[in-house]
Amino acid sequence: MILKAISVGDRTLRLFQKLLYPPRCVCCDVLLGGLEDGCCPECAANLPRILGPVCMKCGKPVGSDEEEYCEDCRQYRHTFDRGIAVFTYTGSLRQSVYRMKRQNRRDYLPFYAKEMVHTLQPILSGWRPEVLIPIPMHRRKKRRRGYNQAELLAEEISRLTGIPVLKDALHCTRLNSDQKMLGRKERRKNLKGSFAGSEEQLKQFTRILIVDDVYTTGSTMDEAADVLKQAGIKQIFFAVLCTGKGKRQYAQEKSCDIINFK
Ligand SMILES: [Zn+2]
Ligand SMILES: [Zn+2]
Repeated sequence: MILKAISVGDRTLRLFQKLLYPPRCVCCDVLLGGLEDGCCPECAANLPRILGPVCMKCGKPVGSDEEEYCEDCRQYRHTFDRGIAVFTYTGSLRQSVYRMKRQNRRDYLPFYAKEMVHTLQPILSGWRPEVLIPIPMHRRKKRRRGYNQAELLAEEISRLTGIPVLKDALHCTRLNSDQKMLGRKERRKNLKGSFAGSEEQLKQFTRILIVDDVYTTGSTMDEAADVLKQAGIKQIFFAVLCTGKGKRQYAQEKSCDIINFK
C-alpha cells in the first residue's frame, strides 16, 4: 500500500510543532538532531524489535519457524483473526510507553505509528482492512488522562496509510478496575460487557483493523472482537506497538509492574 501524501498544511503544522517542542528520543529522552527521527542511534540499535518467527495468531515471538502458534494461542481460543506487534513490551520501550501514557508524552506517538505502519505495510494488501478502530477508553478515564492513546495512534496510522478511522463505532460503557494485577480469567471477567458497538455504523464493513498500544493476554482484544463479530464484522485483525513475550513474562509482570513504574 502506498503511503498517503501528507498535505502542505499538515507539514507546516508539524514543522512549527518541531520548532516549539524539539523532538526527543522516545527511549532516553535526549534531544534529537535534525536527521534523527524519534529515536537516537544508540537507542535505535537496542529497540526490542520483533524480527524472528512470530505466532500466526497474535504476533508474539515464537521459538522457531516450526512453531505456528505461541503457547498462549495453543491453549486459548481467541475471537480475533490475526494480529501483529512491532516490539516486545520490554526494556526501554516499555518505559517509553509508560511515559507516553502516564506523563503525557503524546509526542512519541508519531514515531510509534510510523513503526507500526512499517510492520503493517507488507500485510495490509492481504488483510485489506476497510477501517481502523481504536480500543476505546471510558470517557472518565479519557478526561483524566486527556487523551486515548489508541485513538491518537489510529489517527496517525490513518494519516500514513489513508485507511479511515471509525472512532465511535466501539465505545467503552464501564469504568473497569485496573487490569494489571489480574490474571487471564479475571481480566476476561472484568472486561465482559464493557464495550458496546454501534451496529448502524458497523454494518457496512466486513474487515476491521483494531489499533492499540499494548497486547498482554489478548483479553481486551477478544472483548472488542466479540462485540464486532456480533455486529456482523467478518474479519478482525489488530496492530499493536508492543506485545508481551509470553506466559513467563506475564507472570513476572504481575508481580513487578507497579513497583517498577510508580
Ligand atoms: Zn535514546
Ligand atoms: Zn499467539
